[in-house]
Amino acid sequence: MVTEAECLFCKIAAGEIPAKIVHETERTVAFRDVNPQAPTHVLVIPKGHYPNAAALAAADDGLADEVFKAAHAVAEQEGIAESGYRLVFNTGPGAGQTVFHVHGHVLGGRGLTWPPG
Ligand code: 5GP
Ligand code: ZN
Repeated sequence: MVTEAECLFCKIAAGEIPAKIVHETERTVAFRDVNPQAPTHVLVIPKGHYPNAAALAAADDGLADEVFKAAHAVAEQEGIAESGYRLVFNTGPGAGQTVFHVHGHVLGGRGLTWPPG
């Protein structure tokens, strides 16, 4: 179990590890994925530590709403809001979650197939 003190995305949110930040609000930050899977691949996170989307939703303080709004703002900024983009929250190891600080992947800029693998 990764503690908050060891959490990679907490460190990015705190500016302790560099990242290419593309959008920021008081409680959210969005940065480019280090291993992009599409021309636009941005990760949107709350600055506070929640291990996954379920924990964020349970926080019930409007923060999940802010993360969703930030994701759409990123899509607008990246010019993919009209053509279409995917917002994905891998939740749990079986879904491919590898970093246990909730993050929404904003993917776009190419055709995206459905269903995903
Ligand atoms: P997950 O598999 O948990 O849904 O997504 C984690 C994502 O974080 C992956 O797409 C991975 O490329 C990205 N990632 C892992 N380490 C770093 C890092 O240090 N910096 C950035 N910008 N992205 C990272
Ligand atoms: Zn964290």
